[in-house]
Amino acid sequence: MSIKIQNLTKLYGSQKAVDNISFEVNTGEIVGFLGPNGAGKSTTMKISTGYIPASSGTVEVCGFEVNTAPMDVRKNIGYLAEHNPLYLEMYVGEFLEFIGSLYHLKGKLLKDRIAGVIDLVGLELEKKKKIGQLSKGYRQRVGLAQALIHDPKVLILDEPTTGLDPNQLAEIRSVIKNIGAQKTVVFSTHIMQEVEAICDRVIIINKGKIIENKSLAELKQSG
Ligand code: ADP
Ligand code: ADP
Repeated sequence: MSIKIQNLTKLYGSQKAVDNISFEVNTGEIVGFLGPNGAGKSTTMKISTGYIPASSGTVEVCGFEVNTAPMDVRKNIGYLAEHNPLYLEMYVGEFLEFIGSLYHLKGKLLKDRIAGVIDLVGLELEKKKKIGQLSKGYRQRVGLAQALIHDPKVLILDEPTTGLDPNQLAEIRSVIKNIGAQKTVVFSTHIMQEVEAICDRVIIINKGKIIENKSLAELKQSG
C-alpha cells in the first residue's frame, strides 16, 4: 500500500474543502484524481505531502503517518504543484543540480540521479538549454524531473496537463505513463479522457466527498 487516507477532513474557516474522505492507493498504480475546480483535489494532495495540516483524519504514505513522521513521508513522495515556479534563467542541468542539493545529494549520486530523471522524462536534448527557452510541455518535464530527483516511490501531480496544447498534452501523458511503470503515481485532473488514457483507477471527488473509486475495467463495464 502506498497511500492510505482515513476519514480525512479539512476545514478552511467554516468551509469544508475535504469532507471525511477515505481511500487507498496500491503500490504501482497510476490513479487519476478526478473532479471539477474547487472539489478538494489540491487540498487532499497538499495534506498528503505534508504541506498543510488536516483538520482531522490520517494520511499514511508508504506506511509513514504524515503528522508523526513527516521526514519519512517527504523522502518517499515527490510532488509537483499546479503552479510550480521554475528558475527561467537557469539551465536545466544546473536547475536539477540545485534541486538535488536541497535534498543533500552530491557527487556521483547527484550526477546519476540527474541522468536518471532526464532519461525518465525525456529531457536529453534540453539539458543544456535555459528553462526559459523551453516550451510549456518541456517546462512541465523539468517539473516532473524536479519532483523525481530524490527517487521517491510515490509521485503526486496536481493538474500536470493544465494549459498544454494537444501535442504537449499527448507527450506529457506518455511521460506520466512512462514514470508510472516505475512509480506509484496519483495525478489530479478534471478531464475524464485523460484518466481513461493513462490510469489504472479513478477516484472521483466532488464538493469534498469521494463519489466514485473504481478500476478502469469496472468503470468501463458500468458505462
Ligand atoms: P481543487 O484542487 O479540486 O480545485 P481545492 O482543494 O483547491 O480544489 O479547493 C477546495 C475548496 O477549498 C475550494 O472551495 C477552495 O476555494 C477552498 N480553498 C482552497 N485553499 C484554500 C485556502 N487556503 N483558504 C480558504 N479556502 C481554500
Ligand atoms: P494552487 O493551484 O497551486 O493550489 P491556487 O492558485 O489554487 O494554487 O491557490 C494559491 C493559494 O491560495 C494557495 O495557498 C491556496 O491554498 C490559496 N487559496 C485557494 N483558494 C482559496 C480561497 N478560496 N480562499 C483563500 N485562499 C485560497
